Amino acid sequence: MTSLESWQESTGLSSRPLERALQFKRQLLEHVLEHSLELIMVTDANSIIQRVNAAFTHITGYSAEEALGQTPRLVQSARHSPDFYRQMRMQLQDSGSWSGQIWNRRKSGEVYLQWLTINTLTDDDGEITHRVAIGHDLTAIAGPKRERMLFTFKDPLTQLGNRQLLTSRLEQALAEAERNQIEVGLMVLDIGRLRPVNEQLGLTWGDDVLRQQARTLQAAVDEADTLVRLQGDQFAVLRHSRAQNTAMAQLADKLLGLLAQPIVLADQNVVSLQPSIGIANYPRDAAESTGLLQAAEHAHAMAKRDGRNRFQFVDQREHVLHHRELLIEQGLYHILNTGTGEGLSLHYQPQVCPDTGTIRALEALLRWQHPQLGAISPGEFIPVAEKNGLSVRLDRWVIEQVCAQVAQWQYHYSRLPVVSVNLSAQQFGQADFSDWLQACVNEAGITANRLKLEVTETTMMEHKDSCVAMLKRLRRQGFCISLDDFGTGYSAMSCLHRYPLDELKIDRSFMVEACHNTRAFVLLKTIASLAQQLSLSLVVEGVEQASQLALLRDFGPLTVQGYYFYRPLSVTDMTALLADRQP
Ligand code: C2E
Ligand code: CA
Ligand code: CA
Repeated sequence: MTSLESWQESTGLSSRPLERALQFKRQLLEHVLEHSLELIMVTDANSIIQRVNAAFTHITGYSAEEALGQTPRLVQSARHSPDFYRQMRMQLQDSGSWSGQIWNRRKSGEVYLQWLTINTLTDDDGEITHRVAIGHDLTAIAGPKRERMLFTFKDPLTQLGNRQLLTSRLEQALAEAERNQIEVGLMVLDIGRLRPVNEQLGLTWGDDVLRQQARTLQAAVDEADTLVRLQGDQFAVLRHSRAQNTAMAQLADKLLGLLAQPIVLADQNVVSLQPSIGIANYPRDAAESTGLLQAAEHAHAMAKRDGRNRFQFVDQREHVLHHRELLIEQGLYHILNTGTGEGLSLHYQPQVCPDTGTIRALEALLRWQHPQLGAISPGEFIPVAEKNGLSVRLDRWVIEQVCAQVAQWQYHYSRLPVVSVNLSAQQFGQADFSDWLQACVNEAGITANRLKLEVTETTMMEHKDSCVAMLKRLRRQGFCISLDDFGTGYSAMSCLHRYPLDELKIDRSFMVEACHNTRAFVLLKTIASLAQQLSLSLVVEGVEQASQLALLRDFGPLTVQGYYFYRPLSVTDMTALLADRQP
């Protein structure tokens, strides 16, 4: 008996031939999937991960449970520009498949190089049902063999070098430049508007345009320059000598002129393109190759954004901001993947009754001490987390900490105000959120009515349906719901009665305006009376001075949160304050 037959027998297959054959096929497929050395990830048409194999877990560090239900962003690194992914999506849409090298990120935060092939599966009607990604971890392959794997650094379409050639040459060039104290110039460019060519004339003509433009570029750059095709219609030129600003600007000008000339295709169609160029300089813009390429890619994105047919040097201010955002993103990945919460902490800001000074509630506010950047405000890092799909995990980390803290305080103090936590918009795309939250409070040994959930007006308006359904469920579970930053979104006023709410929080900007603008004052007062009539509690944020508090005197019952009473307090200070307030 062959090993396959014995395995087949051990699986106890059905005896009916057709069914047996099908079952055998399925099991064979399952066997191949699970024992493949290649990483396999299957997503549905909405890019939700449906299936991963053992090699996926081995290579990325994410278990199947962690990966299922997520999108492939889970393993995305920050090495590629948004344009890279856009090109990838376009090619997948156009041709149904994509293959190439890609830098992804393991759960540990480590970035690794992978050869990835993505194919699309469709049903009988041609509707996309699944996408299957098969990846080969290139970092595991040693030097020379890896270089052979990388198709000898060649781009098959244009016969120019590829991204790997550029990476390798960049490293050599920077090492040389450092020794000889010279500058290196790096240009990233796209030939522009290739998509309409692909869409209207077909991919073959698109490829033809790419080849023609590649030849034009090749003829225009110096022999000593390294010209590569990065991806799609993106190219890069590495200049080892004559790389000063004026020389780079002259080259960019020349390339723009050449690339913008109309191209006549063999079928007499005339195509006009709109190239854009970004230029980075070593050592001015970055000290190492990855940073230099990122800087040039960013300058290129800016040139494109600002109207094409132009070149742009790295804007130092923009570049610093972009670099800072990358550091924040990498730091967040690291914290969430290691699960240590390293550098993160929570502060608590009391909300008080202005007449008696009684503390009615506490708002949990996140603080972060970044290893390189120092203290960063949540106003800065929360939007980065949201942009990178990390805010769901970040919020959940906060909620776990808050539940544990509430349990601890509850144990010591009988009089404990309700604690509110901020929810990011993405939480409302998570079908499991209410169950997860319930499990979280249960585990901490506290009850739902100890927590208040703050949802901003913008989130509420942008996710109306999913928000209302989920908030209704959460409210039934006993959580209080507060509408945060009221008045900053595009008016939720008309929808107020439809939302399942307990509280309105008027945005700080109203308090600031109301001090010197009568209309703003009237508006504030109207909102206060509206809240009262809808039986919603009211919190006024940002009260900093006695004069502001005085304005609220005859507004009826309300709660105040602001520096006038308390700033956000560390856990130690908050605990001391709670102890002080006990009967
Ligand atoms: P927010 O929810 O509107 O939180 C109130 C913000 O106003 C806090 O800023 C607080 O420190 C500040 N604040 C309170 N009283 C005063 C005052 O009298 N004057 C002034 N000028 N500011 C006052 P913070 O802590 O920097 O948080 C900023 C934003 O970051 C928050 O706005 C919230 O949207 C977000 N955020 C903070 N922590 C979290 C969190 O754990 N999860 C999520 N998703 N977002 C959070
Ligand atoms: Ca809030
Ligand atoms: Ca607010």
